[in-house]
Amino acid sequence: MNKVREYILGYGVDLLTKNEGLDYISKKIINNEGAQVVTINPEMIEMGDKNQELGEILKNADLVIPDGFGIKLALKIRGIQQEQVPGIEFSRELINICAENDYPVAFIGAKEEVINKAVENISKQTPNLKVVYKRNGYFNNEDEVVDSVIAANPKVLLVALGVPRQEFFINKIKSKKNDIILIGVGGSFDVWSGFTQRAPENWQKMGLEWLYRTIKQPERFKRIFPTLPMFLLKVIMETTQLKRIAN
Ligand code: UDP
Repeated sequence: MNKVREYILGYGVDLLTKNEGLDYISKKIINNEGAQVVTINPEMIEMGDKNQELGEILKNADLVIPDGFGIKLALKIRGIQQEQVPGIEFSRELINICAENDYPVAFIGAKEEVINKAVENISKQTPNLKVVYKRNGYFNNEDEVVDSVIAANPKVLLVALGVPRQEFFINKIKSKKNDIILIGVGGSFDVWSGFTQRAPENWQKMGLEWLYRTIKQPERFKRIFPTLPMFLLKVIMETTQLKRIAN
């Protein structure tokens, strides 16, 4: 499958459905190739602009999933109708594919009780899943963790350390071994463990999961609110400029 990539403020976003993204990754696994998957949102783009190393990592990802509601709006401004692909759903279905095909999986991140419960729940739901590595996300010996997860030889590694730490960690792995599917999953383990709930389905359908999370965790407010309007304004300006060049 040839991916179509649109660029928003210099950051690539792949225009695909969840199933197309999963097919892309499945083919990578079959071909014994690795891939870095990013589930992009406006806050990540803002962070990437402030931190060049993060920006490069995001721009060099093999697959960039249109996760955030702000990304969907940005694409709409561009005249592109794109369904939002929540990273948490993408990752969960990727785990199912691993179980069906006997691909070994590794999990890194979140608090000890959270990762334990998350992996326990997932293993109950997908009994054939081969978990070859599991580690909480509160460690200082990063190089040791990198080496030990590589030694476990997973096909897929899910990293829940929050942005940008998970992207830096993933990049370290990628520089040492290039046949693993690496995906940063943010707060997904918290949800899979049952310690945190996703927004009700109607909020999700309206694309308002971010608003629900902000109401539940008001400390997220200062992260999202200056970012989203500024991001959209920049996208409008960029789009106007692109149209001017095209005419
Ligand atoms: N986390 C971690 N180690 C750290 C910092 C965070 O394992 O040093 C975990 C945290 O416990 C949570 C996840 O990373 O499970 C990040 O969650 P957050 O909701 O901040 O992620 P987001 O999706 O907003 O990036």
